[in-house]
Amino acid sequence: MAASTNFDFIYEPIKEKMREILSHITYITYIEKLRPVDVDGRFIVLETPNENFAQYLTGTIAEKMREAIVKADVGVSDFRLVVEGSSEYAYNAPAEESYTPPSSLDKKYTFDSFVVGKNNEFVYAAALNVAEDPAGTYNPLFIYGGTGLGKTHLVQAIANKIVAEKPNLKVVYVTCEQFVNEIIDAMFTGRGPDARDRGNRLRQRYRSADVLIVDDIQFIANKKAVQEEFFHTFNELVSKGKQIVISSDQPPKELTALEERLKTRFSGGLVFDILPPNFETKVAILKRKAFEKKCLVPDEVLTFLAQDSGDDVRTLEGRLTKVIFASKLHEVPITVALASSALNEAVSEDGKEEITADSIINAVCSYYRVKRDDLVGKCKKKELVQPRQICCYLMCELLSLPLMSIGKALGNRNHTTILYSRNKVEEIKQVNDRIAKDIDDIKNIVLKK
Ligand code: ADP
Ligand code: MG
Repeated sequence: MAASTNFDFIYEPIKEKMREILSHITYITYIEKLRPVDVDGRFIVLETPNENFAQYLTGTIAEKMREAIVKADVGVSDFRLVVEGSSEYAYNAPAEESYTPPSSLDKKYTFDSFVVGKNNEFVYAAALNVAEDPAGTYNPLFIYGGTGLGKTHLVQAIANKIVAEKPNLKVVYVTCEQFVNEIIDAMFTGRGPDARDRGNRLRQRYRSADVLIVDDIQFIANKKAVQEEFFHTFNELVSKGKQIVISSDQPPKELTALEERLKTRFSGGLVFDILPPNFETKVAILKRKAFEKKCLVPDEVLTFLAQDSGDDVRTLEGRLTKVIFASKLHEVPITVALASSALNEAVSEDGKEEITADSIINAVCSYYRVKRDDLVGKCKKKELVQPRQICCYLMCELLSLPLMSIGKALGNRNHTTILYSRNKVEEIKQVNDRIAKDIDDIKNIVLKK
């Protein structure tokens, strides 16, 4: 039947694995008689000839079947059965095996930890509404604003809240850069059925989402094939009544190099901006961040830090971190005087040597035993890429320099690359203790020299 052939590309590799894992007789008697009829989220739906058949499969060999499905690595991880002639699931997979939410979410990005001010009250309300009622009033939701103003925080807050409160919904969160890379990978590396299958699996992953969040959509600019793919994913999800959330550094109509039809689509939803915070909101944000870092920072210091701090909340937070750091380092209370000196001259522990881009680059080089030219160079070998990204991260954390200047100091890189590396290390650090320790060690080298 035509319907079955549609899913053969997923089922064939699974059958291969089942042939390896199950006994020959079981394979011939049962597996050969199953028919893939649908894919539902992470489940492949298999049709069995009758009820008894289904019962046997669910009881005796279900675990092994699941093992084969996972090993086949085709984008599904479990199965459901329907008996021929019925449209209802005969046996659902056990509930505890629900899909695993995206690991790239940062748990600290919540609605609670997001400070609401005049600059973001509408976007906050819209985001909260989406998290409470996905695919309700605000769909698709499009959020735009300058760098470091809280877009990622807000869209991840949506994801975190839905993951926590509506575990039956499949949330897919992806940075646009990751989306682009995956699509390009699947589409253009290799040809033939294998590459096609990879494309299909990827498509399946995105199109089975209940909530799809794409952060920093501007990265899709100028990539025609990816835009095409995204356009179809977008349409399919919208037509199925699924929620879409998009963030961008610009409003849809100003995303030049974006296909007109995508712009129209984005503008068709609800578009909200995040503006730079005013002075009061900056102070409130600093207060919140100090609280999160479990530090008591006097109001006059918060006020001092908020003054002349530019628009970017990330930089604002960096100023606070630096002052808290200086206070711990010198074991002195946090005062305006300390803040002033900590911000004016980033000093190391012995109070003499200044922390500079160079001192960080040197520390990273000596720690990982790589040459400076290689570190700042363009070579993409793994042994260099990670130290380079960690170097970016440390420079962002320890220097109060704009991303552009950091990029310049690190081999003339674009500020988006710096931002990407910084965020990536921030992410990896959460899940990889070794890297977190490396970072601490290098920080100590920089500070104690
Ligand atoms: P963007 O994605 O817009 O570049 P982020 O969401 O990464 O910005 O925000 C940068 C930093 O600033 C994050 O640590 C985030 O928690 C913080 N931040 C931004 N806006 C707020 C806010 N209104 N309340 C609390 N923290 C904020
Ligand atoms: Mg962001």
